[in-house]
Amino acid sequence: MMTATLLNGKQLAETIREEIRTATAEFIGKTGVQPSLTVILVGENPASQVYVRNKESACVAAGMKSDVIRLPESTGTGELLALIEKLNRDASVHGILVQLPLPKGIDEKKILDAISPKKDVDAFHPENVGLISQGRPRFLPCTPYGIQELLRRYNIETAGKEVVIVGRSDIVGKPMALLMVQKGIAADATVTVCHSRTRNLAEVTRRADILIVAIGKAEFVTADMVKPGAVVIDVGMNRKEKTVIGDDGQPAVKNKLVGDVDFDSVKEVAGAVTPVPGGVGPLTVTMLLLNTLESANRASAGL
Ligand code: NDP
Repeated sequence: MMTATLLNGKQLAETIREEIRTATAEFIGKTGVQPSLTVILVGENPASQVYVRNKESACVAAGMKSDVIRLPESTGTGELLALIEKLNRDASVHGILVQLPLPKGIDEKKILDAISPKKDVDAFHPENVGLISQGRPRFLPCTPYGIQELLRRYNIETAGKEVVIVGRSDIVGKPMALLMVQKGIAADATVTVCHSRTRNLAEVTRRADILIVAIGKAEFVTADMVKPGAVVIDVGMNRKEKTVIGDDGQPAVKNKLVGDVDFDSVKEVAGAVTPVPGGVGPLTVTMLLLNTLESANRASAGL
C-alpha cells in the first residue's frame, strides 16, 4: 500500500508547458519575434542524444525555434569557441546551450564561460551564478528551478523547514541550496548540503522535512534514511539492469531508469515523493523553455 503522495512532475510539466505555449504565442504576436534556442551537441554520447532530442521537441511544441548543431567528437576547443562567439552575436538566438558532458580534451569551463550571460539559459555562467547567490537572478538553473516550482505548485511549505540536499554539483546540489536559502516564496529554508565526505549521512538525512537527492547512485536512499512524513525529491537518473518476464514468458534483461531513491521502500515512509521517470526530469526541460522565453522577453525589452 502506497502511503506517500506522488508528486507528478510529468503532469505538472504538461500544465506549465501549456502556459509557456500560450505566452510564446502572445510574445510572437506582440513582437513578431520567435523565441529561439540553439543546442550544441558534441560527440555521440547516447544519453546526451536523448536529452537533446527531448529539448528539441519540447521547444517546437511550445512554438519556439529550435536549432541543434551536431559536431564530431574530434571538435577542438577553439572551433567551439568560434561557434559560440558567432551565436553570441546573432540577435535571432535567445538561448545557447552546450550539452554536457563534453568529450575529454575540450576545456569545458572555457566553453561555458564563453556563452554570453544574457543567452545562458542553463544559468551556469559565473555572472549568472553570482546573481543567483545575491538573490537577484537573471536565469535560474533548470533542475533546481523545476524542483522549486514543483514545491511551490504543490503548496509544500518550505519557510523555516529543514531542507537536506545530498550532492554538491554545480548543476544540481549547489544551486539548489542557493535557491532554498534565499528569502521568498518556496525558499526561506534551513539548508544542509551533504556529499561523499559527510559523516553519518543517514542521521543528517533523517532530519530533513524536505530531502533532495542528486548523487547519481541507483536507489541509494532507503526508507531508514527518511523521516516519516518527509517530502522526498529524487533527481537521480540511473540505468539499472533488471530481469523481467517477457510476453513470451521468458526472462529478459532490460535497462530500467531508476532514481537515487529506493522508491518502493521510501514511499512507505515519506509524506510525498517524486517518481523516476516522471518526476524531476520533465520539469528540467520545461524550465529550459521558460528561460528561453524569458531571454527573448529581456532581449525585446533591451535588457
Ligand atoms: P555529480 O556526479 O556531478 O555529483 C554527485 C554528487 O553526489 C557529488 O557532490 C558527490 O560528492 C555526491 N555523492 C556521490 N556519492 C555519494 C554518497 N555515497 N554519499 C553522499 N554524497 C555522494 O552529479 P550531478 O549532480 O550532475 O547529478 C546527480 C544525479 O542527478 C545523476 O543521476 C544525474 O543523472 C541526475 N540528473 C538529473 C537531472 C534531471 O533533470 N532529472 C539533471 C541533472 C542531473 P563529492 O562532491 O564529494 O564527490
